[in-house]
Parts: sequence; structure tokens; C-alpha cells
Amino acid sequence: MAAPWRDVVRDAAAVREAAAVAVDAALLAGVLMRTGEQPQASDVVNYAPFTLLPSAVPRALFEQAYAVQQDFNLLVDAISQNKEFLEQTLASTIKVDDFTAQLFRIYMQVLEEGLAQTVFLGINRSDYMFDCGLDGTAALKQIEINTIAASFGGLTSRTADVHGLVLKVLGKTEEASHLLPNNPAKGLALGIAKAWELYGSQRAVVMFLVEEIQRNIFDQRCVENELWNRNIRVIRKRFRDVFEQGSLDASRRLYMDGQEVAVVYYREGYVPQNYDRQNWEARLLLERSRAVKCPDIATQLAGTKKVQQELSRPGTLEKLLPGRPEAIARMRATFAGLYSLDEGEEGDRIAATAIADPDRFVLKPQREGGGNNLYGEELRQVLEKIKDSPERTSYILMDKIKPQPALNYLLRAHSPLQVSECISELGIFGVYVRQGQELVLNQAAGHLLRTKAIEHADGGVAAGVAVLDTPYLV
Ligand code: ADP
Ligand code: MG
Repeated sequence: MAAPWRDVVRDAAAVREAAAVAVDAALLAGVLMRTGEQPQASDVVNYAPFTLLPSAVPRALFEQAYAVQQDFNLLVDAISQNKEFLEQTLASTIKVDDFTAQLFRIYMQVLEEGLAQTVFLGINRSDYMFDCGLDGTAALKQIEINTIAASFGGLTSRTADVHGLVLKVLGKTEEASHLLPNNPAKGLALGIAKAWELYGSQRAVVMFLVEEIQRNIFDQRCVENELWNRNIRVIRKRFRDVFEQGSLDASRRLYMDGQEVAVVYYREGYVPQNYDRQNWEARLLLERSRAVKCPDIATQLAGTKKVQQELSRPGTLEKLLPGRPEAIARMRATFAGLYSLDEGEEGDRIAATAIADPDRFVLKPQREGGGNNLYGEELRQVLEKIKDSPERTSYILMDKIKPQPALNYLLRAHSPLQVSECISELGIFGVYVRQGQELVLNQAAGHLLRTKAIEHADGGVAAGVAVLDTPYLV
């Protein structure tokens, strides 16, 4: 891939000057996070980690990622309405993975009672890396789709200005003018506002379901403030608040201390640690309600790694989206090799292949949030240990994507300024709203580029590994 900053990246004096400008610009622009020491208050904040330089992204792949986003929105929405598919696909997983099993139990319980919810809102982010082929050409390969709590749509809208300024300081005024504007938070808020409107109660509020510890609050505030600007009231509550204050009326309208809730936007609830017994009860209450959940539990299940793996099986997309061959071709072109580790011959064969050649693969459990996948020698050891046990079924295998690294500086508070070999991951935000059977909104809402040093196989921004970036199209 092109390395557009080759001439400045090794110029120590220029880099130091630009980094000082970059950090102050980030603080001024609101690229902010609470600190690890004071994660519960905004008295002391710092900049969210970001790259000094925007990273090169091939224009054609960037456009390809945008062009396929509406297809993925349709697909996720279709999966969420297909009980038979979810049941069959997750049958083996829920036998061994307690977290997925508990989500699935709530899903079945809600279906049995009959859905009260009639308006559906999906906010997802489809993530990709640029796989470098033997001939040096890069291909867009999907890492995963996040169907719950996809973050950084707020902070990422502020990095282009910061990087534009950095490029100017480095004498690259022309290049600075080519950075694209990007505001996912606005698009996400548009979807939430549409769902709120269709819910149809002026008095009702939007509830952000937030974490106990809210370090990334500024990212959420970007979406929140867009809603206030539309005169939509927003409240922020945790699962335990829902347990204590939440109730349903006879038509299953959701109330928090007497205040009706139109939309529940989850920024929490995607890992087992988010739940104790009370929180599971709160989740069930929310799912049973008429309120628009973003996502509803079916859509959360649609985002599991197991579902992703099944989608890559020949014929699956055709069954889920009949009559849409073009959309299917666009999506399939982004799939990397994905393999089931279910018990049986197919699983035995791929497990043996991965044990023999672990560097070709990534081993993934049904978890979100970064830091859970296994690579290389660790992959080999774990797979060796579980290859003959049902536990194997809780994982999937995926071909490892191998992007071409580029030099950059990762700016982090209290860290030395040093050059790193880096790789990037591009995310496209998708938003859709469905009323009954009618899709009333289906859009790509913006992008997120995250970059990390190649030493780290795994991990996102919140996990402290990747940092925010801006694409520079080449
Ligand atoms: P999570 O739900 O934890 O975010 P991901 O599937 O996104 O799980 O994986 C986490 C990180 O691991 C990604 O951001 C990426 O850096 C790395 N990763 C995941 N899958 C692959 C792959 N197939 N090839 C190379 N790196 C991968
Ligand atoms: Mg991820």
C-alpha cells in the first residue's frame, strides 16, 4: 500500500512539533476520554489515543465498504427475523456457551409471549481489514459485524480536523484538503430519532443503557447531544437502575420511574461481566417491552461469531435473502475463510489443519470487545487441549488477514513518542429502521478507522490497543 508520509515520518524534529500541535488540537476538538484513574467524573479528562498521521486507505476498498453496507443492514435485519435460522445456527453453541445460551433463552421467552415491539432500529458497524495478497494487491476482508454498542461514531467525527491541521504543520496543505468529512454520530442520531418518532409518543424519552464505569462517555454524548438538538429527551441509566425503577404497563409500555421510554439504546450488555442475576432480569423486562430496543435481542444474536461463520457457508445467504443475488455477491466478496468447529468430521479436519499451521488462523470465542481471540502458539495449545471435547464448539476458526504495515506514531497520554509499524481496521456504520415489515430507513452513516501496532494481534480502542485514525484515500 502507498506510504504517503515517507518523507516526514522519520524527521524527528518535525514529528515532535506536529505531535504537540496534534494533542492540543485533539483536546480542543473534543477527542476525549475520561482517565483510568477517574473514570466516573469529567473533572479530569484526557485525549483519546489517536495516530499522529492519517493512514493510507485504498480508495476502491473504502468505496467497496460503503457500497456493501446497506446489504449488510438488510442481512442483519433478515437474520433477526428468522427464528429457524437462529435456532439451527446457535444450537451447538448454546450447549457449551452460557452467555449465548442466556441471551437465547430470553429471545425464546420473548417470542413465546409475542413481541410487543413494532418498530425496529439497527445500528451496526461492519469492520474490515485490507488483506495483502501475494502479488501485493489489497482486498477488503470483513472482520466482523458489531450489532450491539458499536462505539466511536462520536469521537471519530472529530479526528479529520485534527489530522488536517497536523498535515498543514508538516507542509502538506494540499493533502490536508483531501481528508473526508465524517459524522457517524449524526447518522446514528437520525436513526434513533426516526425510531422515536415512529414509536409515536411526544412525551416518551430515549434511554441510553450505559455501563457502570463510563470512560467513553464523550463518544456517547456526541449522539446524545444530536438528539437533544432535535428536542428529544435523553436519559442515561444502568441495568441496575432498570431493575429498580423499570416497569411495564398493561400494553407493555416501558416506564422508568413513571417516565415512558420510546427507545432503548444499548451501550452495554454485550459481555457476560455486564450481567448479574438482577441485570438479566432487567434485560428481560426491556426485551418484553414495547420500546424500540437498539438492538433487540434477536439482532444481538445475529452478531455472534457463530452466525458470521454460518453465513459463509455456500447457500446460506441465498436462503436468508432470496431474490437478491447482487447484494449477496457484494457481501460474499468481503468474506474471509470461516470454519465451524462443531463436532464431526468437518470440525475435526479444520482443527487438525489449524494445529499444524496456527499462523494461518484466528480462533474466536463468542465474545465481543476485543482481547478474546487466540493466535499462533496459543491457538495451537488451546485447540490441542479442546479438540476432542464439546468445548471446541464454543469457538470458530477464521483465516488470518494479513495487512501491509505502515509507519505511524500512536499518540497516547503519558507514553513516549515513537514510531511503530501499524495496521488499520476500517469500520462502516450502518443504520436502519423497520416498522412492521416495511424498511423505512437503510443507510451507511459514516466510518471509523482504528490503527494499532503490529505487535498486538487483538484489541480495540477501549481495550487500550488500537487508536483513532482518519483514512487518507490513495
Ligand atoms: P471483538 O468482537 O472482540 O471485537 P473481532 O473479531 O473484531 O472481535 O476481533 C478483535 C480484533 O482481532 C480485531 O479488531 C482485529 O484486530 C483482530 N482480528 C480479528 N479477526 C482477525 C482476522 N481474521 N485476521 C487478523 N486479525 C483479526
Ligand atoms: Mg471487533
